[in-house]
Amino acid sequence: MKEYMNYLRKVDPYVPGEQPNLPNMIKLNTNENPYPPSPKVKEVWKQFSQNDLRLYPDPTSHKLNKAIADYYGLDESQVFTGVGSDDVLAMCFMTFFNSEKPILFPDITYSFYPVWAKLFDVKYEAIKLNENFCIEKEDYFKENGGIIFPNPNAPTGVELPLSEIEEILKHNPDSIVIADEAYIDFGGQSALSLLEKYDNLIIVQTFSKSRSMAGMRIGFAIGSPVLIKALHDVKYSFNSYTLNRMTIEIGAAAMADKAYFEETVQKIIETREWSKKEFKKLGFNFFDSKSNFIFVTHPNYNAKDLFLALRENNIFVRYFNADRINNYLRITIGTKKEMETLFDFLKSYIK
Ligand code: PMP
Repeated sequence: MKEYMNYLRKVDPYVPGEQPNLPNMIKLNTNENPYPPSPKVKEVWKQFSQNDLRLYPDPTSHKLNKAIADYYGLDESQVFTGVGSDDVLAMCFMTFFNSEKPILFPDITYSFYPVWAKLFDVKYEAIKLNENFCIEKEDYFKENGGIIFPNPNAPTGVELPLSEIEEILKHNPDSIVIADEAYIDFGGQSALSLLEKYDNLIIVQTFSKSRSMAGMRIGFAIGSPVLIKALHDVKYSFNSYTLNRMTIEIGAAAMADKAYFEETVQKIIETREWSKKEFKKLGFNFFDSKSNFIFVTHPNYNAKDLFLALRENNIFVRYFNADRINNYLRITIGTKKEMETLFDFLKSYIK
């Protein structure tokens, strides 16, 4: 064996959901938005010329950061943007989680957290969700090197009430608490209102779900200017030009189109609430979801078998072969028509 083999970095990478590209498939496996992004995106897109790619982009992403700050009534110094919230979260791990004490996150959660923890050599403790797949806030009142959780949680879709997030913040004045709000726009209550009171709070959101731009890769963090500056310092020590020119312009245009955003989010919420009733009729169980997916299980049918049967029929959902959740399927909310096709199949499967 060559000696250099001893020095290769060995990691167990995060496994993203599959991205098949089949005609007529129904893709409900990676929580994408079934509707296109704002029409304003196309208008800006069309204005680009080949020459625009010649120059480096603005390393500060000023236009996009300002659009996000304006949308939420914040100062630009409170906003950090990155290549999807995965990039932003990875930067957060590097910037904020450098204590010798373990960071805390739920055992059933976004499976990228333990991957980053290992990559950046951060000690962590995965805290068990209760039997209803809810976070018990008291579990997060002990000593720690930081806290992170998605709200609503993924893949469960369960929301942690704002009052409980505040309790966690109150008990952890010396730790950074990150609320990963990838799915917050689908009916959850954002922790943004707690920003003024708690300087240890970081909120991370994405354009991938509620703003229909998973392919563009935009995520952002909001926090105190001190913490956001720390994030920028780490970013500029790693890669100055993370967002490209088109992304900055298009992201800013999408952010400004509030009416379109609200309309599509509302459609998804309506389809989700209708889907909950359909799942119930077919005997599925699930915890109440405030996201653009539902995490379902059936007492009489094996989730993996159903996952494979759906796949055979060009309907892609997500199955996790992990402790406590290996009889569940996470099903993204598609258009009403896509969900009707899903339920037609399920009705024939569940006799
Ligand atoms: N956080 C959570 C909880 C997620 O489910 C996802 C989507 N995989 C992300 C962050 C990252 O999304 P993106 O990088 O597309 O913003």
